Amino acid sequence: MRVDEKIALDAFKPDEAPHIKPRLEVCKACRDRVCVRVCPGGLWTVVEGTDEVRVECSGCLECGSCVTCCPNGGIDWAQPRGGCGVRYRCG
Ligand code: SF4
Ligand code: SF4
Repeated sequence: MRVDEKIALDAFKPDEAPHIKPRLEVCKACRDRVCVRVCPGGLWTVVEGTDEVRVECSGCLECGSCVTCCPNGGIDWAQPRGGCGVRYRCG
């Protein structure tokens, strides 16, 4: 089974407030854009025609890759509240 097929089995219950927030001023000046490349869910995008990045929190796998790999400390990240976030399924 491919990774994207496994991810498609997971269920998500988004928290009311996003648990990942890009620091806009830091991200605008960033040319690395590592977050876009490392997210296994493909949730980070560069907003077309701007210097801004956007993250779609509702499909977050809570792996922490974006926070770990960002070289600029450009992300505020917290666990979703209890009962919210990803629910993994084994198959
Ligand atoms: S989150 Fe990190 S890697 Fe992504 S745009 Fe912001 S500063 Fe750059
Ligand atoms: S925690 Fe993982 S799945 Fe969630 S946005 Fe960051 S890299 Fe993507």
